[in-house]
Amino acid sequence: MLKVIKNRLEQGCKTSKYPKEPISLYKRFRGLPQINTDCDPSIVRSCAAICPQDAILVDEKKIDLGRCTFCGRCENVSDGAFVKFSQDFGMGTASREALLCDGSLPALADHAKKHFRKLFGRSLQLRQVSAGGCNACEADTNVLGTPFFDLARFGIDFVASPRHADGIHVTGPISKNMQAALITTYAAVPSPKVVIASGCCSISGGPFYGSSEIVGDLNSIIPVDLYIPGCPPHPLTTLHALLNYFK
Ligand code: SF4
Ligand code: SF4
Repeated sequence: MLKVIKNRLEQGCKTSKYPKEPISLYKRFRGLPQINTDCDPSIVRSCAAICPQDAILVDEKKIDLGRCTFCGRCENVSDGAFVKFSQDFGMGTASREALLCDGSLPALADHAKKHFRKLFGRSLQLRQVSAGGCNACEADTNVLGTPFFDLARFGIDFVASPRHADGIHVTGPISKNMQAALITTYAAVPSPKVVIASGCCSISGGPFYGSSEIVGDLNSIIPVDLYIPGCPPHPLTTLHALLNYFK
C-alpha cells in the first residue's frame, strides 16, 4: 500500500490545466484553416480538383468544415497559397452555415442557446450514439475520460442510458441500419435535450457521402444544436466546443 501511495506521489497530477492554461498540440495537428481570399482563382480550382470531399467552394473561396477531413491535400497542392491549417482547435459551431468557413468562425458563446447553459451549465450527461462510424470519432471521444482531460471535472459525463441523459452525442454517417436505433435513443432522452453532431460523418456523411447505405446528415433526421468538425474531431476540439457552448 505504501508503495502505491509513494508511486502516486511521484507521478503527481497528470491532468491538463486547460482551459486555465493554454495547451500545445503536436505540430502536425490541423485546425482552423487560414484562407487567403486574395488567392488566384486557378489555384483555388486546383485545390478543389484534388479535394476528396468536395469541400472547397471555389467561387466563395471557402472550405466547408462540415465536409472537410483535414487531409491537408489542398494546403500541399497550393503550397499554402490558398490555405494553411492553423493550430486553432476551437472549431465547434451552433449552425451548419457557419461551417462554410472563410478562415474565421463566429464565437460559439455568442450564438449558443442561452437556456441550455442555464439548464446544463453545471451538469451535462450525454449518451453517445455511434451511427455507423469507423470508430475513430468514438475513440477520440473516449480519450476525454482519461486522467489527462478528466471531462468529469467540468460536470460533463457520458452515461449508459438515454433516460439518464440530457442529450445525445452522435458520431458516424447514420447508416440505414442505425437509423431506427438513433431515433429511438433520441426519443428516450427526456426534454429539453441537446443534439451534438460530432465529426464530418454525422454532419454531412463525411467520406461516405453519396453512399446508398447511409441516410444522410444528422440534421436531416433530428435537429442538431452543436456541430463539432473533424475526422475525427481532436479531443480538445470537442472539449472546447462543450465548454464554450454549455459553460
Ligand atoms: S483538407 Fe479538407 S478541403 Fe483540403 S483537400 Fe482535404 S478534405 Fe479537401
Ligand atoms: S468523421 Fe472520420 S473519424 Fe469520424 S466516423 Fe467518420 S470517417 Fe471515422
